Amino acid sequence: MKCPFCEADDDQVLDSRPAQGGTAIRRRRECGGCGRRFTTYESVERTSLAVVKRDGRREPYDRQKLLAGILLALRKRPVSREQVEKMVDGIEATLAEQHRLEISSRELGGLVLARLRALDPVAYVRFASVYRQFDDAEQFVSELTNLMKGGSSADSGGQGPSGLRRSERSPKPAI
Ligand SMILES: [Zn+2]
Repeated sequence: MKCPFCEADDDQVLDSRPAQGGTAIRRRRECGGCGRRFTTYESVERTSLAVVKRDGRREPYDRQKLLAGILLALRKRPVSREQVEKMVDGIEATLAEQHRLEISSRELGGLVLARLRALDPVAYVRFASVYRQFDDAEQFVSELTNLMKGGSSADSGGQGPSGLRRSERSPKPAI
């Protein structure tokens, strides 16, 4: 790392520690040329991942889009926003560790499903039932919205507002 003061490329790392809530590493460095100290931050590059759709088109990975879909599947479920953010952090970290430059939308959905299954079985079923059929995130969200409104009137006995089966076990939130 070039020294910002004398531009010598001869520094020594004195200290490394987690920063920005663990998403970055802060390094204190000392220049071998002029002896002055400076600090650098290292973090995961988040802009380089492309999502490959089923028709072969690529689009930049969009964390907000992914979050929106997951949050919709988790609506009224006892899972906090923080847990969901952590889940997406975990997916991003896995992909970064593998130095992935692209991922298919199918595989990305699979990574979400693997984690949702452990987090909330109801949301897992909701997500699985629609995500696999759709590539397009907007189409997916509108389909999921319909599903959760209970668009089907085939079940004459059901009086539930959501149309979802009540037989699904809902775990009590741990306190
Ligand atoms: Zn220097």
